[in-house]
This record gives sequence, C-alpha cells and structure tokens, in this order.
Amino acid sequence: MSDSSSKTPTGSTMSTGAPAPSDRNSLTIGANGPIMLHDVHFLEQMAHFNREKVPERQPHAKGAGAFGVFETTEDVSAYTKAALFQQGAQTEMLARFSTVAGEMGSPDTWRDVRGFSLKFYTSEGNYDLVGNNTPIFFVRDPMKFPHFIRSQKRLPDSGLRDNHMQWDFWTNNPESAHQVTYLMGPRGLPRTWRHMNGYGSHTFMWVNAAGERFWVKYHFHTEQGMEFFNNAEAADMAGIDADYHRRDLFEAIARGEYPSWIMSVQVMPYADAATYRFNPFDLTKIWSHKDYPLIKVGKMTLTRNPENFFAEIEQAAFSPGNTVPGIGLSPDKMLLGRAFAYNDAQRNRIGTNFHQLPVNQPKVPVNTYMFDGQMTYEHSGNAPVYAPNSGDRSWADTTGKMEDGWETDGEMVRSAYELHSEDDDFGQPGTLVREVFNDEERAKLVEQVAGSLLGGVRSPVLERAFDYWRNVDAEVGRRIEEKVRAGAAPEPVPGMGES
Ligand code: NDP
Repeated sequence: MSDSSSKTPTGSTMSTGAPAPSDRNSLTIGANGPIMLHDVHFLEQMAHFNREKVPERQPHAKGAGAFGVFETTEDVSAYTKAALFQQGAQTEMLARFSTVAGEMGSPDTWRDVRGFSLKFYTSEGNYDLVGNNTPIFFVRDPMKFPHFIRSQKRLPDSGLRDNHMQWDFWTNNPESAHQVTYLMGPRGLPRTWRHMNGYGSHTFMWVNAAGERFWVKYHFHTEQGMEFFNNAEAADMAGIDADYHRRDLFEAIARGEYPSWIMSVQVMPYADAATYRFNPFDLTKIWSHKDYPLIKVGKMTLTRNPENFFAEIEQAAFSPGNTVPGIGLSPDKMLLGRAFAYNDAQRNRIGTNFHQLPVNQPKVPVNTYMFDGQMTYEHSGNAPVYAPNSGDRSWADTTGKMEDGWETDGEMVRSAYELHSEDDDFGQPGTLVREVFNDEERAKLVEQVAGSLLGGVRSPVLERAFDYWRNVDAEVGRRIEEKVRAGAAPEPVPGMGES
C-alpha cells in the first residue's frame, strides 16, 4: 500500500543533527522483508520512546500549571528583607496545581486536597512555596507521611481505592480531624483551580534588615471568587472531562483571562510562639485571624501557558526547603521533613541534575560545588572543583548564629509536640463546624461523611469514626451516626471507592 499525505515532507533530523532518512518507513529487505538492525534512526526513535515518561510524582501526580508574575504592592519591609517582598518588586513565577492521591490519569474533580505550589525566580535565587488549598494538614509529624499517603491510595491486593483504609488511618490519627472536616466540608471540591484559595500552610520565618525575626503564615485569596462543585456535579465532570481543571486553566489564560490571587500574611512576633494558645508550628492548626490579622503583601497573576507540558510542568521541581535571604523555615516538623523529601523526589524522578533544567534554573548566576552526575549541562569549566582552593573560585564560609535560625535545647527525644494551653485535636475542627459553617454547610458535612462511611467502612473503624465526629462536635457526630445506622444508600463520593 502506498502512503498518502496532504503535506510534502521537507525533512527532519536525527538527534545528532544529521538528516533523518524517513519518519514513516523503516529499512527492510524488500518491501515485505525483515527490518534491518542497522536502521539506526528507527532504533533510536524506539529506544527514546521507551524512555519518554519519567516516574510520576508520589503524591500530587495529576496537575498542571502556568507562569506569571508576583508584584509586591505593599510595604512589608518591617518584617522581611527578602528582595521579592519589597514594595514595587515584580518577580517572574510558576504555579502548579494538583490533586494529592490520584495518579497521572485520574479525574481532576475527585474530592481531595489540591496542591498549590509556587516558584518565584527572585533576584536572590529561587524561592519555592509549596502549599495546598487548605491552611492545615492531616498529620504533624513527617514520620507519618508515607503511611498517610499509602492509606489514601490503593489496596495492595485489588489495586482499588478504599474508604475503610482511609478512615482507619484518619481515626487512628485524630490530629487529622481538622483537615478531614475541611475536606468533607463545603470547600472540599473546588470548581476550578482559579476559584480556590491557596495557603503556605506551614509556619515560616521572616527576617528584616535589622535582623529581627517573625513567624509568618501565607494566604492567597482568589480574585475570581470561590466556587465549588457538589458531589453530583463533580462525579459528572469526572466522566465528561477528567482533565477539567487542567483545561480550564489553560483555556482561560489562552483567552487572556489571567487568574490572580492576593497574597497576605499573618505575622507573629518571634517571642509570641512560646506562649500562643495553640502550638504555632503544628501543621494541623491555624492561627486565629482574630489573634493575627491578615496583612496584605501583593498580587500573583498567571499570564502564560507552558509551551511544552512535559518540559515545563512535569519536570518542574518544587521544594519548601528552597528559601532566599530574609525567609527561613521553622520548627514545624512537617516542613523540616519536606525540606529533605521534595528535592530527593526530583532526584529520583528526573535525575541528579534536575536543577539545571530551564524551568528549574534560577535567573541569577549559580556557583555550586555540586559536580558532574547524570545529564550534566551546566559546569564550572576547569575551575577548581573543591573548596577551599588556591585558584580564584570563591566559596562560602558563614559561621556563627544563623540569622534565620531559632534556639533549641533539651534531650533528643521521639515525642509529640509540647501542648500549648488550647491545643487538642478536636478544638479547631469544632470551631470550624460550629462557628464558621452555617446550618446548610453542617448538613452537607453530615451527608458527606455519612456517605463516605457507608461506602464500605466496617467495624471497628466505623465505631471509631462515630467517636471521632462526636469529639469534633457532639451534635454533628450524633447526626452522622444516625444517618449511617439508618443505612441510607450512599451518594457516590467522587474519588472514594468502596472495596
Ligand atoms: P475567623 O472567623 O476569623 O476566620 C474563619 C475563616 O475561616 C474565614 O476567615 C475564612 O478564611 C475561613 N472560612 C470561611 N468559611 C469557610 C468554610 N466554609 N470552610 C473552611 N473555611 C472557611 O476565625 P479564626 O481565624 O479564629 O478561625 C476559626 C476557624 O476557621 C478555624 O478553626 C479554622 O477551622 C477555620 N479557618 C481559619 C483560617 C485561619 O487562617 N485563621 C483559614 C481557614 C479556615 P479564608 O477565606 O481566608 O480561608
């Protein structure tokens, strides 16, 4: 059979730049004969195809993103000297949004927390803020993190997702109650990424030019307004368009509708941390707005779609450990664990020199002694590869007190955080249910939780779940148990299957 084509081929090349013989016909002995082993062009194409994908993220595999700009509109120099947060500064940036538990091909509209990862290409190096669309998280110690993620993913035998396993983990770890209440509440299913808030979630440190230290929490409020799906809408959309959130962001930006968020911070004076009513480093807790009101900083606007999804989004590497002068970490154990885990995940996914890829490269000169390794592109020529050296290559040698450090003392222990006066696992979710949710939202929460429990959760996890919700709020707990005991047919919860 002869090939037909509407276009006259004008030629391509092999990866060496030499002309490629054909992108349609392999080299054979006669038209019907066997393929020749020395058809190098064909073999190279096949071998590269076999290596076309990299391991997907574990978790946050399904996502997308866009580039934009962050403009600092306010004067917050009293709190940080970071160049990107000085009034008038405009900083190029990248945002990536994602679900947590679903794999690369999973629907965007499953009920799940959404990742909200930002990379700022600042004049002092790259700063990453790797948060979520919730101000809190399920656990406060990173030792629990792999266990948590596995419990939200798939059973070892059937490969199915499983409500029983999810609730088993949550009810065995009551510090999850705040985040589970948020997830099962009215904000658990964003309509699009453009219509959700973002939070840095962790507590970070800011340092001003005088060396004064502050604890901060970041908040990004959507300027599109918050909008959410209900379960039925989300389940429909999962079938109609599994890539709905990805498509929405890409098409909005392509139309010139640039989504934007206002960034604010809560600022806590350094010394307050010791006596604040909640442990301010516990990722399962918020700081009340009444205690530390929001202070506006600036605006993030996404204006440019990636030209190539794989190169610029799939290979984008974020780590909450990537800070710049004037910004530091904090004693938040989850943050300290993530500061290692994220870059290590990229070394596994993309390779030793992932930071050399254009999307991950800073816009400032780099002088690192990290040397050689798979896929080295940037290098230091014939300059000394060790420090100190007698050549003219500079090296760093800061000693003494870290400006973004904090005091620690005591024995080495394996222990929960020290409790502050109002710390308990159920207090803040109770406030959320009683004082923030309205009647309709409380009713939805009851329906949502009961539906999920009816989707295959068995004794003794079921009874533990009733206790868990009674601890959050006696009345809400009573209504959930009543609904489950009545055995009403569950409304399907998108993304949470029965085993
Ligand atoms: P406030 O009454 O000052 O703040 C409550 C905040 O809750 C609002 O400002 C809003 O923050 C957020 N919120 C409003 N509706 C919902 C909803 N349906 N689902 C989830 N969050 C909602 O009180 P506090 O600051 O003392 O917080 C009280 C409770 O509110 C907390 O226990 C926590 O559960 C929840 N909350 C607090 C946040 C904080 O950072 N202080 C942030 C989010 C929730 P926003 O729109 O900025 O998210």
